[in-house]
Amino acid sequence: MSAVARVALHVACRACGDVFDTGLRTDTGSFARGTFAANYHTCPRCGATETYRKQDYRLVEVRSGRTVELPRR
Ligand SMILES: [Zn+2]
Repeated sequence: MSAVARVALHVACRACGDVFDTGLRTDTGSFARGTFAANYHTCPRCGATETYRKQDYRLVEVRSGRTVELPRR
């Protein structure tokens, strides 16, 4: 991927499975290089607070609302 897109990080709640916006914003280049170890997020649906790691995040392009797929190494 050559273009860098602004993305929102979403996760699927471990307790209820609902996908929610964590409020974190980054771009695809920074995300690919970053580590994102053990962030706490609270599910707005069921209130469960869990830790999420890089591989848990779903990237959603801010401009289009579309899910962005990154190669996972
Ligand atoms: Zn939940």
